[in-house]
Amino acid sequence: MTVIDVIEPATEQVLATVERTTEMQLDELIECASRVQKDWAAEAPATRARVLLAVSSAIDLHTEELAELESRNVGMPISDARGAIAGVAATFRYYSAAPERLLGQTIPVEGGVDMTFREPIGVVGLITPWNYPMTIAAWKVAPALAAGNAVVVKPAELTPLTTIRMAELAVEAGLPEGLLNVVVGAGSSVGRRLVEHPGIGKIAFTGSTAAGKDIARRAADSIKRVTLELGGKSAALVFADADLGSAAEGLVGAVFGNSGQDCCARSRVFVERSAVDNFLAKLHDVVTGITVGDPLQDSTQMGPLISAGHAKRVEEYVSDADVLVQGTTPSGPGYWFPPTVLHPAGDVDRAVREEIFGPIVAILPFDDENEAITRANNTIYGLAGSVWTSNAARSMRVARAMNAGALAVNSYSSVRVSTPFGGFKQSGLGRELGPDALDAYTEVKNVFFNTND
Ligand code: NAD
Repeated sequence: MTVIDVIEPATEQVLATVERTTEMQLDELIECASRVQKDWAAEAPATRARVLLAVSSAIDLHTEELAELESRNVGMPISDARGAIAGVAATFRYYSAAPERLLGQTIPVEGGVDMTFREPIGVVGLITPWNYPMTIAAWKVAPALAAGNAVVVKPAELTPLTTIRMAELAVEAGLPEGLLNVVVGAGSSVGRRLVEHPGIGKIAFTGSTAAGKDIARRAADSIKRVTLELGGKSAALVFADADLGSAAEGLVGAVFGNSGQDCCARSRVFVERSAVDNFLAKLHDVVTGITVGDPLQDSTQMGPLISAGHAKRVEEYVSDADVLVQGTTPSGPGYWFPPTVLHPAGDVDRAVREEIFGPIVAILPFDDENEAITRANNTIYGLAGSVWTSNAARSMRVARAMNAGALAVNSYSSVRVSTPFGGFKQSGLGRELGPDALDAYTEVKNVFFNTND
């Protein structure tokens, strides 16, 4: 038996020790899940609905425990972690309504009746990253189970704890054993085996674009269904007529939230040139006012980065850049990095092109609307984006022109349980959340019924 030491990023101490799943164990779990899935899919829709609602309630009841675990394992401020767990409960609650609403169609045809059914895929493999472990697991687990599938979920090696606990709570709440399985290990071993396993019908992956490409290539061998939620380099366009105070204050969450380890982080902020000085003055106050420290304190707004290796990577983006403002961090143990505002030399700068996944924002002045749109779209990514302006016509024009999947006007909000989420271009394939997610966990079956004697 080999184990993984799970490290607490704020203290650099071992938080827990977790057993790695072997390939043989994975094979057995998939075989068992395949048997259990058939019974689950045959349950009355209302029964599946009741179980998912019970899972939601169980998560609600354990909010404090789960939030503390997520906060300690990820380094996420406890107030954000409580919100994240509330979101997990809301996700199960939302999809508990799905089993009784998985509607098909009747289609007019000659000689009979034609109808469609949305069948479960079977056993699906879910692979998640370390930045919002339980949130992103729930986005996949809840619709997959609602649609009648069994799941095998592999959390990131760094952050397996809340996903493991979620599965325990689900069984206590009445989910049949063997339906929601958590496996622990590296992407290169357990993750890869999951992607290549013939017993897995679909992979839903959230993580880096590089890993997503590898998964898509390997899944292609068996035409395995794939949904991918990948990296981002999202832009905010701030026009001079915008509420500059709100646009600046919102960046506390939009680029420094979860220490910038957020796929939707608005890490490129294009500001209309005439408003740059005013915007930067407001941003200065915002950044120097951010409370960075112990994630378990209610007042903390930003915690550490996930690991020493990641902190070193983030640091490299600042070493030769023009730093406009930088906040502070605690001293002592922990993978700390301060909130940082850069003024890059141009759009070709690494900090403007690459996903940093740290608390660093680039401020980029622009002169007119078309130029701003063209520059915002000049990226391989297309996950999220924001438009800040008091001109309603312009806000809609610009939102429609931005090549990204999750746009917000006068807001940085990207994610809601009831609305679709996903990326254009190399930010992903398919949509999660909202009604769309169910498409990703079902196959459409067409049945023609001959009515001629
Ligand atoms: P990562 O790609 O390194 O790992 C993600 C998961 O995939 C982990 O569980 C890992 O073990 C596994 N994995 C890695 N390589 C694999 C492979 N070849 N085969 C199978 N499994 C593999 O990503 P990360 O560092 O954990 O997370 C950060 C990345 O995730 C960022 O790029 C971020 O933008 C992205 N992300 C995207 C979204 C979104 O919804 N679009 C949300 C959160 C994070």
